[in-house]
Amino acid sequence: MIEEFKDYCTGCRACEKLCPKGAITMERDYKGFLYPKVNYDKCVKCGLCKNRCPINNKEVYKEKKAYAAYNKDEKIRMESTSGGIFTLFAENIIDKKGVVFGAAFNEDLQVEHIRVENKSDLNKLRTSKYVQSDTKDTYVEAKELLENGRLVYFSGAPCQIEGLKAYLGKDYENLILQDIICHGVPSPKVWKAYLDSKKQKINSVNFRNKEKSSWENYQMKITYENDVEYIDRKINPYMILFLKNSSLRESCYNCKFKKENRESDITLADFWGINKIDETMNDGKGTSLLLINSEKGNKLLEEISDKIVKKEVDFKTAIENNLSMIRSCRKGDKYDEISNLIREGREEEIFKENDKNG
Ligand SMILES: Cc1cc2nc3c(=O)[nH]c(=O)nc-3n(C[C@H](O)[C@H](O)[C@H](O)COP(=O)(O)OP(=O)(O)OC[C@H]3O[C@@H](n4cnc5c(N)ncnc54)[C@H](O)[C@@H]3O)c2cc1C
Repeated sequence: MIEEFKDYCTGCRACEKLCPKGAITMERDYKGFLYPKVNYDKCVKCGLCKNRCPINNKEVYKEKKAYAAYNKDEKIRMESTSGGIFTLFAENIIDKKGVVFGAAFNEDLQVEHIRVENKSDLNKLRTSKYVQSDTKDTYVEAKELLENGRLVYFSGAPCQIEGLKAYLGKDYENLILQDIICHGVPSPKVWKAYLDSKKQKINSVNFRNKEKSSWENYQMKITYENDVEYIDRKINPYMILFLKNSSLRESCYNCKFKKENRESDITLADFWGINKIDETMNDGKGTSLLLINSEKGNKLLEEISDKIVKKEVDFKTAIENNLSMIRSCRKGDKYDEISNLIREGREEEIFKENDKNG
């Protein structure tokens, strides 16, 4: 009964007040917080307490599972941010004649959401791009496809997934939602200033290249017309601003979508801390944290299971080293300085030392 929701209960007393038999009393736990207790001698199992509970309106999937996982295809795994799990879900959807939405670079190397219907185009969506992605018209496109009965897989930051849900206004059986654990999204203007500071034509960028290092010690790889540059994240001024929280969107500092109970069917992330939990799952090539938030997500995971190596991990332990799952970061030391430079149209000054340090 209502006690099943304990992990999400806010102690609001609605169930206690609603119970027609007076079978629910509120009792304090060791920290003094109220929780419902059901007297089963009085309970007639009408279900009102569960049905009307506010957390029940946000469906809680009780079989929620966490895995450390990686793609058995080493080439795709090396091209991906962590374990290359995204590509497997996306390929599964395309095999079923479905459509995949996700973040890609445009011709100016800014990031926007696009739709992909062929496996050969999935490389555009692969890898994390550390710039906010513009969803453009993809919500409208996704709705049209859904209404026409096409299978749709929409991936993005948690705010973009909840934005899509709000736009659609109803559930679709043929929609699969996949979000990421998101640290926060950097400013497109800061990104443009960084690109401009390079003073050579850039053909492509990979924020999380792991050709020369382990996946945890990734480098940014910039491919120019006649040259390739690898820049360690520790000395890369763009990555420093991102990782030290000085270039993120205002809402990222008070994000409403960082939470355990996701609206998505699947959450993908980097499995930070996998070494401490299970060393055998970390060979340096990338391990994803895969969270299954719904039965739909679970079914899709079963369908790709023969293509991945995975180990189930306790949910709380899994997110222990990934606080971005639940908590917003604080503004970094350079936040005000960067904001002021952009406000004054002097963003080219952000990376003026760039030639010397990457
Ligand atoms: C801005 C940002 C911040 C992140 N912060 C964290 C974090 O704090 N902790 C953590 O564990 N993981 C974080 N991730 C997620 C992580 O880096 C990987 O996306 C995840 O591990 C999946 O990797 P993969 O190897 O399975 O697939 P990949 O092929 O590497 O991932 C591709 C997926 O990322 C999505 N994606 C790429 N860029 C963007 C973007 N700009 N906006 C929205 N979606 C995008 C694609 O649509 C696709 O779903 C972040 C990703 C981004 C883009």
